[in-house]
Amino acid sequence: SRVNNPYTGAKVYVNPEWSAKAAAEPGGSRIANQPTGVWLDRTAAINGVNGGMGLRAHLDEALRQKGSGELVIQLVIYNLPGRDCAALASNGELGATEIDKYKTQYIDPIKAILADSKYASLRIVTTVEIDSLPNLITNVTPRATATPNCDVMKANGNYVKGVGYALNKLGDVANVYNYIDAGHHGWLGWDDNFGPSAQIFKQAATAEGATVNDVHGFIANTANYSALKENNFTVDQNIAGKSVRESSWVDWNRYTDELSYAQALRTQLVSIGFDSNIGMLIDTSRNGWGGANRPTGPGATTDVNTYVDGGRYDRRIHLGNWCNQSGAGLGERPKASPQAGIDAYVWMKPPGESDGSSKAIDNDEGKGFDRMCDPTYQGNPRNNDHMSGALPNAPVSGHWFSAQFQELMRNAYPPL
Ligand code: BGC
Repeated sequence: SRVNNPYTGAKVYVNPEWSAKAAAEPGGSRIANQPTGVWLDRTAAINGVNGGMGLRAHLDEALRQKGSGELVIQLVIYNLPGRDCAALASNGELGATEIDKYKTQYIDPIKAILADSKYASLRIVTTVEIDSLPNLITNVTPRATATPNCDVMKANGNYVKGVGYALNKLGDVANVYNYIDAGHHGWLGWDDNFGPSAQIFKQAATAEGATVNDVHGFIANTANYSALKENNFTVDQNIAGKSVRESSWVDWNRYTDELSYAQALRTQLVSIGFDSNIGMLIDTSRNGWGGANRPTGPGATTDVNTYVDGGRYDRRIHLGNWCNQSGAGLGERPKASPQAGIDAYVWMKPPGESDGSSKAIDNDEGKGFDRMCDPTYQGNPRNNDHMSGALPNAPVSGHWFSAQFQELMRNAYPPL
């Protein structure tokens, strides 16, 4: 029997492998004991990649960390066929049609391990398939932002089927808490995207034998940089005769930050049939935006862009930028029940792990080179043709990026 909020009264698992990398960095011991997500980002991760810890090793260590109290371990289910259809940096090992491999070689073995009675006392949070379903709303024909690969994944149904299958199978394990990925406000916060995204989450949650009861909640902002709460402007304000929504930064979005987005999305999801007790997670690993460039108050009211740009904490060049963002900092430390409707702030993306390489690098993980990770790139329709804002000299996604880790600590907010 599940508790309403698994994070209540529980410690959260510290991944020893991430912790060791953090601790080895100058100053890293300040955060090396924070809990971060364990990404099962390929089939081999189940048994452990290159001699590293596999799923059982993590669960055994979780039992040890748990002691006699309660403990949450956070897993990221991330291996869909045709993964990362609107980008290249996290393309995966499975081709667009390989849904059967996804089911039998990836989800079924994970489920078998999680269902081992040895692990029944753990609270196992699974965040399901980052960036997948939102792509089927925003990056498909006839949108200007469409990509051929997202059109393929929409047409073949394998994202919806894969997510449904994962929710159904993992949801059969009594101590698993499934949270579906819900993008972030700077992706789904527009009216054209918000309602349709909720609908496709419902479609996936009722596919392949899943029901809405297999869904404990949703996670916003995974591996993204959107600010938790912008205090210096709101969408309800008018500045020099214009709505804040007309500013270039907000660009008619309905939301300005992750907290308001996650709370509103929760209400929307309940209204279309998800359980009234669903809870939201917000990934605050890299959305702190502290340091010297953090505004100390609202911008000047001379015009709406001066006002918003002068006051916003999120210093990205454009809200659509997502790769190794220059100037970012660690956000709120992981915390249970921080706000109404929010089960926890979490660090699902382990700080210091790259979002993608700045130039093409050979690898055996299926990872491509996405120019959104190249600091010289001038953009595409998905970031409205702006500079990428990416840090230089980044390694392949998931690999350790010391310079980014150091910057995240320097720009942490709250500061370390
Ligand atoms: C990568 C994964 C990695 C994860 C966490 C993703 O961008 O594709 O391989 O495990 O980030 O760092």
